[in-house]
Parts: sequence; C-alpha cells; structure tokens
Amino acid sequence: DRIVTANSRADEERQDRAIRPKRLTEYVGQQELRNQMEIFIQAAVARKEALDHVLIFGPPGLGKTTLANIIAAEMGVNFRQTSGPVLEKAGDLAALLTNLDAHDILFIDEIHRLSPVVEEILYPAMEDYQLDLMIGEGPAARSIKLDLPPFTLVGATTRAGLLTSPLRDRFGIVQRLEFYTVEELGQIVTRSAGVLGITIESHGAFEIARRSRGTPRIANRLLRRVRDFAEVKGNGVITGDISEQALDMLRVDSNGFDALDRKLLMAMIDNFGGGPVGLDTLAAAISEERGTIEDVLEPYLLQQGFIMRTPRGRVVTSHAYVHFGLQPPKALAV
Ligand code: ADP
Repeated sequence: DRIVTANSRADEERQDRAIRPKRLTEYVGQQELRNQMEIFIQAAVARKEALDHVLIFGPPGLGKTTLANIIAAEMGVNFRQTSGPVLEKAGDLAALLTNLDAHDILFIDEIHRLSPVVEEILYPAMEDYQLDLMIGEGPAARSIKLDLPPFTLVGATTRAGLLTSPLRDRFGIVQRLEFYTVEELGQIVTRSAGVLGITIESHGAFEIARRSRGTPRIANRLLRRVRDFAEVKGNGVITGDISEQALDMLRVDSNGFDALDRKLLMAMIDNFGGGPVGLDTLAAAISEERGTIEDVLEPYLLQQGFIMRTPRGRVVTSHAYVHFGLQPPKALAV
C-alpha cells in the first residue's frame, strides 16, 4: 500500500474519526466554499426547509465526506451514508429514502458509479420528493408512488465529468474542492497533533505539510508515521529534523512523490521522450490501471505542473526533469 495514497485505508477509519473536523469553523481552507455553504445553510435553516441538493467533487482525501458530515451537523439533522457501487437495486435506495426524516442528509459517495436503474429512481426523488417504484413482474407489475420527506442529497465524486448530465443538473449547489496549500496543510497537521496529544514544532508540521500532495488525508497519515519515528528515534517531539528523517525513510520525497509517482514520471521521460503519450500506453508501461493514473496519480501532478494534458496525450514539463536533476530538452527550457 502506498503511504501517499489519497484513498482511505481500512485501518484508518477509527483513528480518523477523532481528528475529523465536526463543524464548519474547524474545516481548514476552502474559504470560498465555506463562506457560501455557511450562507446556504443559514438560509435553509431560517426558512425551515431542506438544503438544496449538494454535489461535491474533488480528488480523494480532500474532505468530501467530512464536509457532508459537517453540513448535517450545521443543519442539525441526521446523516445517512452510502455509496454508488453499494446501491445495486432500486429497492436498496428506496429503503434508505423511506427511512429519512425531514431535512436529513443522505450522502452518496462515488455517485458516478450508481447503476442506471438506481439513478432513474433518484431523479423524481430529488426533484419532487417522490418515489416511483415498480412492484412485481410481468403482467402483474404495477407502479406505486410514495411521498418522501424533503431531504438533501449530498453526492460526492472524484471527477464531475463522470456524472450523467441529467443527474448533475438536479444539484442546486455544486462545490469543487481544491488541493490545499502547504500552509493550510500545516494548520491541519498542527490541529490533528493537538487532538492526538502529539507535540509538534512548526518546522516539523511544515515538513509534513510540504510532502502531503495537497491532501489532508495524506497529511494526517504522514503525521502518524512521523510520530512513530519521533517516539522511537527521538523523545516523542516532532521537530523539523525528525520529520525530515522519517519522511526520507518512508521514501516520500520533497514534492510528496513516492515510488509510483517517480515511476510514472520516469517512464514518460525515459520510454516516451517526455511525451506526448496516451493514457493506455502509459498505464501498460507502468503496469497500473488507467483509472489509477487518472484518479490517483495524475490530478496532483497536473495541478503542480509536472505533467500536462494535450490532445495527443500526456507530456512531462521541465519541472519534472528538474525534479530528477535532469536537463530538460531544449524545447522545454524556460
Ligand atoms: P474524501 O471524502 O474527499 O475522500 P475525507 O472527508 O474522508 O475525504 O477526508 C479525509 C481526512 O482528511 C478526514 O478524516 C479529515 O480528518 C481530513 N480533512 C479533510 N478535509 C479537511 C479540512 N478541510 N480540514 C481539516 N481536516 C480535513
């Protein structure tokens, strides 16, 4: 398992619960989104209405689930959680919807992976709080309509482009999560350390933040591993030095790249002359799935300007050459 994977790992769920921010004021960064959500939530509460349906998109580990939980807490309503691939049959979704109280939040993670039959059920549910169900089969089949309580669907997806447009159109509020700055990640690490009772110096927090790929989940994970190192090799305090040594040992480099990132970039440089190279070709070259490259590896590398997407495929930029201490080809020199 990658130490810098943005996906959550099974062992982390329990520990995460303690450090997950519970209220909007504890949610670090994403200032614009926070300002907007605060107003939308206050207005809905004042009108005693359900909040409009919310679509949150952004790479894994940036705080989609956390935000959905916070919305429920700020609205003062129940939070129910499921995910696209789990809802196999129309009945699965119907069971969830009919058990909601007024204004509750239903969070569907990976909403782009809903099956078409389930998605069909969702349209009238979102639009008119109505459930249209077919009961029975063949000539005896009949449709029934059920009224649902006004509820809020919060959908999360890693890429907005994966959503069908009828589904996307039914969200009144669409929010996009951005990668966090090093300073914001530093705040998150410092806050988490406080909750976990870890002593951390600002240099120590900075070093972890810098190598966390703009992602809070990775920052919190690296914090736990650096803490181990500090306890065994030091006196438990996370100093800049301890952070640096621990992260070097974990082979997470100064840009937060691990072996897989380096493999991808080096394959592009060595095997494809820096590109352009198509996604499938690249996936085959590094024996990874296309989806892993698109969802997990690429977003951060693109955002940081190490690779670019062109109509003919991916290309590496001069930053990537410089990162490896290589001379960029003349055409790329800036
Ligand atoms: P996603 O659902 O986008 O994959 P999560 O909401 O599970 O991401 O966030 C991963 C972890 O990162 C959470 O457990 C939380 O502790 C932390 N986190 C995410 N966003 C923030 C934030 N804005 N401020 C502080 N911590 C955050």
